[in-house]
Amino acid sequence: MTDEIRVRIAPSPSGNLHIGTARTALFNYLFAKKEGGKFILRIEDTDAERTKQEYIDNIFDSLKALGLNWDEGPDVGGEYGPYTQSERFDIYPKYAQILLDKGYAYECWCTNEELEQEKEEAVKNHKAYVYSRKCLNITPEQREQYIKEGRKPSIRFKVEHKELIFNDMVKGELKFDTSLIGDFVIMKSNGTPTYNFAVVIDDMLMKISHIIRGEDHISNTPKQILIYEALGAKVPEFGHLGMILAPDRSKLSKRHGATAVSDFVKEGYLTDALINFVALLGWAPSDSVEIKTVDEIAKDFRIKEISSSNSIFEYDKLNWMNGQYIKKMDISKLTDMIIPFLSDYDLSELSREKLEKMVEITREPLTTLKDIQKDVPYFFGEDVPLDEVKELLTTELSKNVLNKFIELAQKWDFTNEQELHDDLQKLRDDFKANFGYKPKETMWAIRAAVTGRTRGADMVGILTILGKDKVLRRTKKAMAL
Ligand code: GLU
Repeated sequence: MTDEIRVRIAPSPSGNLHIGTARTALFNYLFAKKEGGKFILRIEDTDAERTKQEYIDNIFDSLKALGLNWDEGPDVGGEYGPYTQSERFDIYPKYAQILLDKGYAYECWCTNEELEQEKEEAVKNHKAYVYSRKCLNITPEQREQYIKEGRKPSIRFKVEHKELIFNDMVKGELKFDTSLIGDFVIMKSNGTPTYNFAVVIDDMLMKISHIIRGEDHISNTPKQILIYEALGAKVPEFGHLGMILAPDRSKLSKRHGATAVSDFVKEGYLTDALINFVALLGWAPSDSVEIKTVDEIAKDFRIKEISSSNSIFEYDKLNWMNGQYIKKMDISKLTDMIIPFLSDYDLSELSREKLEKMVEITREPLTTLKDIQKDVPYFFGEDVPLDEVKELLTTELSKNVLNKFIELAQKWDFTNEQELHDDLQKLRDDFKANFGYKPKETMWAIRAAVTGRTRGADMVGILTILGKDKVLRRTKKAMAL
Protein backbone atom coordinates (compact mmCIF):
# COMPACT_ATOMS: atom_id res chain seq x y z
CA MET A 1 0.00 0.00 0.00
CA THR A 2 1.42 3.33 -1.03
CA ASP A 3 1.35 6.30 1.31
CA GLU A 4 1.23 8.74 -1.56
CA ILE A 5 -1.34 11.52 -1.23
CA ARG A 6 -3.82 11.05 -4.07
CA VAL A 7 -7.00 13.10 -4.34
CA ARG A 8 -9.60 13.41 -7.05
CA ILE A 9 -12.47 15.42 -8.38
CA ALA A 10 -15.16 13.20 -9.84
CA PRO A 11 -17.77 15.31 -11.59
CA SER A 12 -20.86 13.83 -13.21
CA PRO A 13 -21.26 15.42 -16.66
CA SER A 14 -24.94 16.22 -16.34
CA GLY A 15 -24.34 19.97 -16.63
CA ASN A 16 -21.63 22.58 -17.08
CA LEU A 17 -18.99 22.79 -14.35
CA HIS A 18 -20.73 24.33 -11.32
CA ILE A 19 -18.91 26.95 -9.30
CA GLY A 20 -19.34 24.70 -6.22
CA THR A 21 -17.63 21.82 -7.98
CA ALA A 22 -14.87 24.25 -8.95
CA ARG A 23 -14.35 25.02 -5.28
CA THR A 24 -14.27 21.31 -4.38
CA ALA A 25 -11.76 20.78 -7.19
CA LEU A 26 -9.69 23.69 -5.91
CA PHE A 27 -9.54 22.39 -2.33
CA ASN A 28 -8.47 18.98 -3.61
CA TYR A 29 -5.89 20.61 -5.86
CA LEU A 30 -4.56 22.77 -3.01
CA PHE A 31 -4.33 19.79 -0.70
CA ALA A 32 -2.38 17.80 -3.33
CA LYS A 33 -0.07 20.78 -3.98
CA LYS A 34 0.57 21.37 -0.31
CA GLU A 35 1.26 17.70 0.43
CA GLY A 36 3.22 16.97 -2.72
CA GLY A 37 0.49 14.59 -3.90
CA LYS A 38 -1.44 13.93 -7.09
CA PHE A 39 -4.69 15.52 -8.28
CA ILE A 40 -6.83 13.26 -10.43
CA LEU A 41 -9.83 13.92 -12.67
CA ARG A 42 -12.39 11.16 -13.08
CA ILE A 43 -15.54 11.57 -15.13
CA GLU A 44 -18.51 9.81 -13.51
CA ASP A 45 -20.73 9.33 -16.53
CA THR A 46 -22.64 6.21 -15.54
CA ASP A 47 -25.94 8.04 -15.87
CA ALA A 48 -26.10 7.77 -19.66
CA GLU A 49 -29.37 9.68 -19.92
CA ARG A 50 -28.02 12.85 -18.31
CA THR A 51 -24.48 12.69 -19.71
CA LYS A 52 -23.60 14.89 -22.67
CA GLN A 53 -20.30 15.28 -24.49
CA GLU A 54 -20.67 19.07 -24.38
CA TYR A 55 -20.76 18.92 -20.58
CA ILE A 56 -17.62 16.76 -20.51
CA ASP A 57 -15.88 19.31 -22.75
CA ASN A 58 -17.14 22.14 -20.55
CA ILE A 59 -15.77 20.45 -17.40
CA PHE A 60 -12.35 20.01 -19.02
CA ASP A 61 -12.22 23.56 -20.39
CA SER A 62 -13.45 25.21 -17.19
CA LEU A 63 -11.02 23.36 -14.92
CA LYS A 64 -8.16 24.22 -17.27
CA ALA A 65 -9.23 27.87 -17.49
CA LEU A 66 -9.19 28.01 -13.69
CA GLY A 67 -5.65 26.63 -13.69
CA LEU A 68 -6.66 23.40 -11.95
CA ASN A 69 -4.59 21.04 -14.05
CA TRP A 70 -4.77 17.37 -13.20
CA ASP A 71 -1.93 14.85 -13.02
CA GLU A 72 -4.04 11.93 -14.19
CA GLY A 73 -7.31 11.95 -16.09
CA PRO A 74 -9.21 10.86 -19.18
CA ASP A 75 -7.11 12.93 -21.57
CA VAL A 76 -3.67 12.65 -19.99
CA GLY A 77 -4.05 9.05 -18.85
CA GLY A 78 -2.15 7.63 -15.89
CA GLU A 79 -1.30 4.36 -14.22
CA TYR A 80 -4.80 3.64 -12.94
CA GLY A 81 -7.00 4.37 -15.95
CA PRO A 82 -9.31 4.47 -17.67
CA TYR A 83 -10.49 7.62 -15.89
CA THR A 84 -13.97 7.69 -17.42
CA GLN A 85 -16.44 5.51 -15.57
CA SER A 86 -18.32 4.31 -18.65
CA GLU A 87 -15.07 2.75 -19.87
CA ARG A 88 -14.77 0.77 -16.65
CA PHE A 89 -18.03 -1.19 -16.82
CA ASP A 90 -16.28 -4.56 -16.98
CA ILE A 91 -14.52 -3.89 -13.65
CA TYR A 92 -17.51 -3.56 -11.32
CA PRO A 93 -19.18 -7.00 -11.71
CA LYS A 94 -15.95 -8.70 -10.59
CA TYR A 95 -16.02 -6.87 -7.28
CA ALA A 96 -19.74 -7.42 -6.88
CA GLN A 97 -19.03 -11.13 -7.32
CA ILE A 98 -16.36 -11.02 -4.61
CA LEU A 99 -18.90 -9.49 -2.22
CA LEU A 100 -21.49 -12.11 -3.20
CA ASP A 101 -18.98 -14.93 -2.64
CA LYS A 102 -17.99 -13.58 0.76
CA GLY A 103 -21.60 -13.17 1.84
CA TYR A 104 -21.46 -9.37 1.99
CA ALA A 105 -23.97 -9.03 -0.81
CA TYR A 106 -26.94 -10.92 -2.14
CA GLU A 107 -29.16 -11.06 -5.19
CA CYS A 108 -32.45 -9.21 -4.98
CA TRP A 109 -35.22 -10.39 -7.30
CA CYS A 110 -37.88 -7.97 -6.16
CA THR A 111 -39.73 -6.16 -8.90
CA ASN A 112 -40.21 -2.40 -8.85
CA GLU A 113 -43.86 -2.95 -7.97
CA GLU A 114 -42.93 -5.09 -4.96
CA LEU A 115 -40.46 -2.46 -3.76
CA GLU A 116 -42.99 0.31 -4.25
CA GLN A 117 -45.44 -1.64 -2.13
CA GLU A 118 -42.88 -1.94 0.67
CA LYS A 119 -42.27 1.80 0.52
CA GLU A 120 -45.98 2.60 0.64
CA GLU A 121 -46.35 0.31 3.61
CA ALA A 122 -43.58 2.20 5.44
CA VAL A 123 -45.21 5.54 4.69
CA LYS A 124 -48.56 4.21 5.98
CA ASN A 125 -46.91 3.13 9.23
CA HIS A 126 -44.96 6.40 9.53
CA LYS A 127 -41.67 4.54 9.39
CA ALA A 128 -38.47 5.43 7.53
CA TYR A 129 -38.17 2.96 4.67
CA VAL A 130 -35.47 0.30 4.73
CA TYR A 131 -35.49 -2.73 2.45
CA SER A 132 -37.18 -5.74 4.04
CA ARG A 133 -34.37 -8.19 3.23
CA LYS A 134 -37.01 -10.36 1.61
CA CYS A 135 -34.45 -11.82 -0.83
CA LEU A 136 -31.67 -12.35 1.71
CA ASN A 137 -32.38 -16.01 2.26
CA ILE A 138 -34.32 -17.29 -0.73
CA THR A 139 -34.16 -20.99 -1.53
CA PRO A 140 -32.46 -22.34 -4.68
CA GLU A 141 -35.93 -23.36 -5.93
CA GLN A 142 -37.28 -19.84 -5.59
CA ARG A 143 -34.23 -18.54 -7.42
CA GLU A 144 -34.82 -20.99 -10.27
CA GLN A 145 -38.41 -19.89 -10.42
CA TYR A 146 -37.44 -16.19 -10.72
CA ILE A 147 -34.98 -16.99 -13.49
CA LYS A 148 -37.69 -18.93 -15.34
CA GLU A 149 -39.98 -15.90 -15.01
CA GLY A 150 -37.32 -13.90 -16.77
CA ARG A 151 -36.49 -11.73 -13.77
CA LYS A 152 -33.05 -10.21 -13.56
CA PRO A 153 -31.56 -9.65 -10.11
CA SER A 154 -30.01 -6.54 -8.73
CA ILE A 155 -27.28 -7.00 -6.14
CA ARG A 156 -27.71 -5.56 -2.69
CA PHE A 157 -25.07 -4.90 -0.11
CA LYS A 158 -25.85 -6.53 3.23
CA VAL A 159 -25.43 -3.76 5.74
CA GLU A 160 -23.95 -4.81 9.05
CA HIS A 161 -25.83 -3.11 11.87
CA LYS A 162 -23.45 -1.21 14.10
CA GLU A 163 -22.32 2.20 15.17
CA LEU A 164 -19.98 3.47 12.49
CA ILE A 165 -17.57 6.21 13.50
CA PHE A 166 -15.13 8.10 11.35
CA ASN A 167 -13.02 11.16 11.79
CA ASP A 168 -13.87 13.70 9.12
CA MET A 169 -10.97 16.00 8.19
CA VAL A 170 -13.27 19.00 8.17
CA LYS A 171 -16.18 18.11 10.44
CA GLY A 172 -14.40 16.03 13.11
CA GLU A 173 -15.85 12.82 14.54
CA LEU A 174 -19.06 11.63 12.87
CA LYS A 175 -21.23 8.75 14.08
CA PHE A 176 -23.86 6.78 12.19
CA ASP A 177 -26.30 4.05 13.16
CA THR A 178 -26.03 1.74 10.15
CA SER A 179 -29.27 -0.07 11.02
CA LEU A 180 -31.04 2.94 9.53
CA ILE A 181 -29.37 2.52 6.16
CA GLY A 182 -31.02 -0.58 4.76
CA ASP A 183 -29.42 -3.01 2.33
CA PHE A 184 -28.70 -0.85 -0.70
CA VAL A 185 -28.32 -1.81 -4.34
CA ILE A 186 -24.75 -1.90 -5.64
CA MET A 187 -25.44 -3.37 -9.09
CA LYS A 188 -28.67 -2.64 -10.90
CA SER A 189 -30.56 -5.42 -12.65
CA ASN A 190 -29.32 -4.05 -15.99
CA GLY A 191 -25.74 -4.81 -14.93
CA THR A 192 -24.60 -1.23 -14.26
CA PRO A 193 -23.15 -0.18 -10.90
CA THR A 194 -24.79 2.40 -8.65
CA TYR A 195 -22.89 5.55 -7.69
CA ASN A 196 -22.00 4.32 -4.19
CA PHE A 197 -20.46 1.12 -5.53
CA ALA A 198 -18.65 2.49 -8.59
CA VAL A 199 -17.16 5.35 -6.59
CA VAL A 200 -15.65 2.98 -4.01
CA ILE A 201 -14.24 0.58 -6.60
CA ASP A 202 -12.74 3.46 -8.57
CA ASP A 203 -11.33 5.27 -5.55
CA MET A 204 -9.91 1.99 -4.27
CA LEU A 205 -8.29 0.98 -7.57
CA MET A 206 -7.04 4.53 -8.20
CA LYS A 207 -5.49 4.45 -4.72
CA ILE A 208 -7.25 7.63 -3.65
CA SER A 209 -5.98 8.48 -0.15
CA HIS A 210 -8.23 11.42 0.74
CA ILE A 211 -11.76 12.17 -0.42
CA ILE A 212 -12.64 15.83 -0.16
CA ARG A 213 -16.16 16.65 -1.35
CA GLY A 214 -19.34 18.49 -0.53
CA GLU A 215 -21.28 17.64 2.60
CA ASP A 216 -24.23 16.65 0.43
CA HIS A 217 -22.33 13.36 0.18
CA ILE A 218 -22.10 12.73 3.94
CA SER A 219 -25.01 10.30 3.95
CA ASN A 220 -23.20 8.24 1.29
CA THR A 221 -20.00 7.95 3.27
CA PRO A 222 -21.08 5.23 5.77
CA LYS A 223 -22.26 3.07 2.86
CA GLN A 224 -18.96 3.55 1.12
CA ILE A 225 -16.93 2.79 4.25
CA LEU A 226 -18.88 -0.46 4.74
CA ILE A 227 -17.97 -1.51 1.18
CA TYR A 228 -14.26 -0.76 1.74
CA GLU A 229 -14.37 -2.80 4.94
CA ALA A 230 -16.12 -5.71 3.25
CA LEU A 231 -13.49 -5.76 0.50
CA GLY A 232 -10.70 -5.63 3.08
CA ALA A 233 -9.46 -2.40 1.51
CA LYS A 234 -7.89 0.56 3.27
CA VAL A 235 -10.54 3.19 4.01
CA PRO A 236 -9.47 6.62 2.72
CA GLU A 237 -9.69 9.75 4.83
CA PHE A 238 -12.84 11.80 4.23
CA GLY A 239 -13.36 15.54 4.43
CA HIS A 240 -16.76 17.09 3.79
CA LEU A 241 -16.99 20.74 2.85
CA GLY A 242 -19.88 22.99 3.88
CA MET A 243 -22.21 23.98 1.08
CA ILE A 244 -22.20 27.25 -0.83
CA LEU A 245 -25.45 29.12 -0.28
CA ALA A 246 -26.95 32.11 -2.05
CA PRO A 247 -27.11 35.44 -0.17
CA ASP A 248 -30.71 34.56 0.85
CA ARG A 249 -29.31 31.31 2.37
CA SER A 250 -31.12 29.08 -0.08
CA LYS A 251 -29.36 26.67 -2.40
CA LEU A 252 -27.33 28.61 -4.98
CA SER A 253 -29.21 28.45 -8.23
CA LYS A 254 -29.54 30.22 -11.57
CA ARG A 255 -32.20 32.47 -10.14
CA HIS A 256 -29.47 34.19 -8.07
CA GLY A 257 -27.14 34.71 -11.04
CA ALA A 258 -24.58 32.64 -12.89
CA THR A 259 -23.67 29.29 -11.32
CA ALA A 260 -21.59 27.57 -14.01
CA VAL A 261 -17.98 28.68 -14.36
CA SER A 262 -18.44 29.20 -18.11
CA ASP A 263 -21.46 31.47 -17.49
CA PHE A 264 -19.40 33.66 -15.16
CA VAL A 265 -16.75 33.88 -17.89
CA LYS A 266 -19.42 34.87 -20.43
CA GLU A 267 -20.54 37.60 -18.03
CA GLY A 268 -17.02 39.00 -17.98
CA TYR A 269 -15.52 37.51 -14.83
CA LEU A 270 -11.83 36.61 -14.88
CA THR A 271 -10.97 33.03 -14.01
CA ASP A 272 -8.15 34.26 -11.74
CA ALA A 273 -10.66 36.30 -9.76
CA LEU A 274 -13.19 33.46 -9.69
CA ILE A 275 -10.73 30.92 -8.31
CA ASN A 276 -9.43 33.43 -5.75
CA PHE A 277 -13.00 34.18 -4.71
CA VAL A 278 -14.08 30.54 -4.27
CA ALA A 279 -10.94 29.81 -2.23
CA LEU A 280 -12.27 32.26 0.35
CA LEU A 281 -15.55 30.35 0.68
CA GLY A 282 -14.67 28.37 3.77
CA TRP A 283 -10.97 29.18 3.97
CA ALA A 284 -9.17 32.31 5.20
CA PRO A 285 -5.56 33.32 4.56
CA SER A 286 -3.34 33.57 7.66
CA ASP A 287 -2.24 37.11 6.77
CA SER A 288 -5.75 38.41 5.91
CA VAL A 289 -4.58 39.41 2.42
CA GLU A 290 -7.47 38.23 0.27
CA ILE A 291 -6.15 38.82 -3.24
CA LYS A 292 -3.90 35.85 -3.91
CA THR A 293 -2.90 33.53 -6.71
CA VAL A 294 -3.59 29.82 -6.43
CA ASP A 295 0.12 29.17 -5.86
CA GLU A 296 0.19 31.64 -2.98
CA ILE A 297 -2.95 30.09 -1.53
CA ALA A 298 -1.45 26.60 -1.83
CA LYS A 299 1.50 27.57 0.37
CA ASP A 300 -0.81 28.83 3.12
CA PHE A 301 -3.49 26.15 2.80
CA ARG A 302 -4.35 23.76 5.63
CA ILE A 303 -7.31 21.45 5.18
CA LYS A 304 -7.92 21.35 8.94
CA GLU A 305 -8.58 25.09 8.90
CA ILE A 306 -11.46 24.86 6.46
CA SER A 307 -14.64 26.02 8.08
CA SER A 308 -17.15 23.24 8.53
CA SER A 309 -20.13 25.53 8.11
CA ASN A 310 -21.83 26.71 4.95
CA SER A 311 -20.51 29.73 3.07
CA ILE A 312 -22.51 32.51 1.49
CA PHE A 313 -21.81 33.32 -2.13
CA GLU A 314 -21.63 37.13 -2.05
CA TYR A 315 -21.94 38.30 -5.64
CA ASP A 316 -21.00 41.82 -4.47
CA LYS A 317 -17.72 40.59 -3.12
CA LEU A 318 -17.00 38.71 -6.32
CA ASN A 319 -17.71 41.92 -8.27
CA TRP A 320 -15.29 43.83 -6.07
CA MET A 321 -12.62 41.18 -6.45
CA ASN A 322 -13.10 40.97 -10.21
CA GLY A 323 -12.68 44.74 -10.39
CA GLN A 324 -9.42 44.47 -8.43
CA TYR A 325 -8.09 41.94 -10.93
CA ILE A 326 -9.16 44.11 -13.88
CA LYS A 327 -7.31 47.11 -12.38
CA LYS A 328 -4.10 45.13 -11.89
CA MET A 329 -4.02 43.12 -15.07
CA ASP A 330 -1.42 43.50 -17.78
CA ILE A 331 -2.98 45.85 -20.32
CA SER A 332 -2.24 43.78 -23.41
CA LYS A 333 -3.69 40.64 -21.81
CA LEU A 334 -6.71 42.60 -20.60
CA THR A 335 -7.28 44.00 -24.09
CA ASP A 336 -7.23 40.46 -25.53
CA MET A 337 -9.83 39.41 -22.99
CA ILE A 338 -12.02 42.44 -23.56
CA ILE A 339 -12.10 42.20 -27.38
CA PRO A 340 -14.81 39.48 -27.41
CA PHE A 341 -17.06 41.85 -25.45
CA LEU A 342 -16.73 44.60 -28.06
CA SER A 343 -18.37 42.81 -30.94
CA ASP A 344 -20.88 45.67 -31.35
CA TYR A 345 -18.08 47.98 -32.47
CA ASP A 346 -15.90 48.12 -35.56
CA LEU A 347 -12.54 47.52 -33.93
CA SER A 348 -10.70 48.13 -37.20
CA GLU A 349 -11.27 51.85 -36.57
CA LEU A 350 -8.58 51.75 -33.88
CA SER A 351 -4.99 50.58 -34.06
CA ARG A 352 -3.94 48.01 -31.47
CA GLU A 353 -2.07 50.76 -29.65
CA LYS A 354 -5.18 52.94 -29.45
CA LEU A 355 -7.34 50.02 -28.43
CA GLU A 356 -5.00 49.27 -25.54
CA LYS A 357 -5.03 52.94 -24.61
CA MET A 358 -8.84 52.90 -24.64
CA VAL A 359 -8.86 49.88 -22.31
CA GLU A 360 -6.31 51.53 -20.05
CA ILE A 361 -8.36 54.70 -19.57
CA THR A 362 -11.72 52.98 -19.19
CA ARG A 363 -10.88 50.03 -16.93
CA GLU A 364 -10.94 51.81 -13.57
CA PRO A 365 -14.70 51.59 -12.83
CA LEU A 366 -15.25 48.15 -14.38
CA THR A 367 -16.47 45.28 -12.25
CA THR A 368 -16.79 42.87 -15.17
CA LEU A 369 -15.25 42.91 -18.63
CA LYS A 370 -18.75 43.17 -20.07
CA ASP A 371 -19.27 46.50 -18.31
CA ILE A 372 -16.94 48.14 -20.79
CA GLN A 373 -19.59 47.89 -23.52
CA LYS A 374 -21.56 50.83 -22.18
CA ASP A 375 -18.50 52.99 -21.53
CA VAL A 376 -16.89 53.10 -24.97
CA PRO A 377 -19.40 53.94 -27.75
CA TYR A 378 -17.88 57.41 -28.32
CA PHE A 379 -14.55 55.89 -29.33
CA PHE A 380 -16.21 54.51 -32.46
CA GLY A 381 -18.10 55.90 -35.45
CA GLU A 382 -18.10 59.41 -36.86
CA ASP A 383 -20.70 61.13 -34.67
CA VAL A 384 -21.99 60.87 -31.14
CA PRO A 385 -25.58 61.53 -30.07
CA LEU A 386 -25.82 64.95 -28.45
CA ASP A 387 -29.43 64.86 -27.17
CA GLU A 388 -28.40 64.32 -23.55
CA VAL A 389 -25.98 67.25 -23.55
CA LYS A 390 -27.85 69.66 -25.78
CA GLU A 391 -28.69 72.04 -22.98
CA LEU A 392 -25.15 72.09 -21.70
CA LEU A 393 -23.73 72.70 -25.17
CA THR A 394 -25.96 75.64 -25.98
CA THR A 395 -24.99 77.82 -23.03
CA GLU A 396 -22.95 80.91 -23.67
CA LEU A 397 -20.11 79.43 -21.67
CA SER A 398 -19.94 76.32 -23.84
CA LYS A 399 -20.16 78.25 -27.10
CA ASN A 400 -17.35 80.47 -25.92
CA VAL A 401 -15.17 77.51 -24.85
CA LEU A 402 -15.79 75.46 -27.98
CA ASN A 403 -15.09 78.39 -30.25
CA LYS A 404 -11.72 78.91 -28.66
CA PHE A 405 -11.03 75.20 -28.53
CA ILE A 406 -11.60 74.84 -32.29
CA GLU A 407 -9.31 77.74 -32.98
CA LEU A 408 -6.47 76.52 -30.74
CA ALA A 409 -6.75 72.77 -31.29
CA GLN A 410 -5.97 73.18 -35.01
CA LYS A 411 -2.40 73.86 -33.92
CA TRP A 412 -2.11 71.27 -31.16
CA ASP A 413 -0.24 68.00 -31.55
CA PHE A 414 -2.79 65.29 -30.79
CA THR A 415 -0.14 62.57 -30.78
CA ASN A 416 1.77 64.04 -27.86
CA GLU A 417 -0.08 63.41 -24.60
CA GLN A 418 2.08 65.60 -22.41
CA GLU A 419 1.75 68.58 -24.75
CA LEU A 420 -1.95 68.03 -25.13
CA HIS A 421 -2.31 67.90 -21.36
CA ASP A 422 -0.46 71.20 -21.00
CA ASP A 423 -2.45 72.84 -23.81
CA LEU A 424 -5.74 71.91 -22.17
CA GLN A 425 -4.45 73.09 -18.83
CA LYS A 426 -3.58 76.47 -20.32
CA LEU A 427 -7.00 76.74 -21.96
CA ARG A 428 -8.69 76.12 -18.61
CA ASP A 429 -6.43 78.57 -16.80
CA ASP A 430 -7.06 81.29 -19.40
CA PHE A 431 -10.82 80.91 -19.23
CA LYS A 432 -10.64 81.07 -15.46
CA ALA A 433 -8.49 84.20 -15.52
CA ASN A 434 -10.39 86.00 -18.27
CA PHE A 435 -13.98 84.89 -17.74
CA GLY A 436 -14.04 83.32 -14.28
CA TYR A 437 -15.12 79.91 -15.68
CA LYS A 438 -14.41 77.01 -13.37
CA PRO A 439 -11.87 74.57 -14.94
CA LYS A 440 -14.50 71.85 -14.52
CA GLU A 441 -17.01 73.82 -16.60
CA THR A 442 -14.54 74.38 -19.40
CA MET A 443 -13.78 70.68 -19.57
CA TRP A 444 -17.48 69.72 -19.45
CA ALA A 445 -18.14 71.67 -22.61
CA ILE A 446 -15.32 69.94 -24.49
CA ARG A 447 -16.19 66.51 -23.14
CA ALA A 448 -19.86 66.94 -24.02
CA ALA A 449 -19.04 68.01 -27.58
CA VAL A 450 -16.58 65.17 -28.20
CA THR A 451 -18.28 62.29 -26.37
CA GLY A 452 -21.92 63.30 -25.97
CA ARG A 453 -21.54 62.65 -22.24
CA THR A 454 -20.73 64.64 -19.14
CA ARG A 455 -18.45 62.06 -17.61
CA GLY A 456 -16.15 59.31 -18.75
CA ALA A 457 -12.52 58.44 -19.25
CA ASP A 458 -9.51 60.74 -19.10
CA MET A 459 -9.98 63.57 -21.61
CA VAL A 460 -6.41 63.70 -22.87
CA GLY A 461 -6.58 59.96 -23.55
CA ILE A 462 -9.88 60.34 -25.40
CA LEU A 463 -8.49 63.14 -27.59
CA THR A 464 -5.37 61.17 -28.55
CA ILE A 465 -7.39 58.10 -29.42
CA LEU A 466 -9.93 60.00 -31.54
CA GLY A 467 -7.32 62.15 -33.22
CA LYS A 468 -7.46 65.80 -34.21
CA ASP A 469 -9.70 65.55 -37.27
CA LYS A 470 -12.51 63.64 -35.64
CA VAL A 471 -12.37 65.78 -32.50
CA LEU A 472 -12.67 68.98 -34.56
CA ARG A 473 -15.48 67.62 -36.72
CA ARG A 474 -17.47 66.57 -33.63
CA THR A 475 -16.85 69.91 -31.91
CA LYS A 476 -18.03 71.84 -34.96
CA LYS A 477 -21.22 69.78 -35.06
CA ALA A 478 -21.79 70.57 -31.39
CA MET A 479 -21.21 74.25 -32.07
CA ALA A 480 -23.88 74.18 -34.75
CA LEU A 481 -26.61 73.15 -32.28
N1 GLU B 1 -20.02 12.22 -9.22
C1 GLU B 1 -20.24 12.70 -7.90
C2 GLU B 1 -20.79 14.09 -7.98
O1 GLU B 1 -20.64 14.76 -8.99
C3 GLU B 1 -18.93 12.66 -7.13
C4 GLU B 1 -19.12 12.39 -5.73
C5 GLU B 1 -17.86 12.15 -4.97
O2 GLU B 1 -16.98 13.02 -4.98
O3 GLU B 1 -17.73 11.06 -4.38
O4 GLU B 1 -21.40 14.56 -7.04
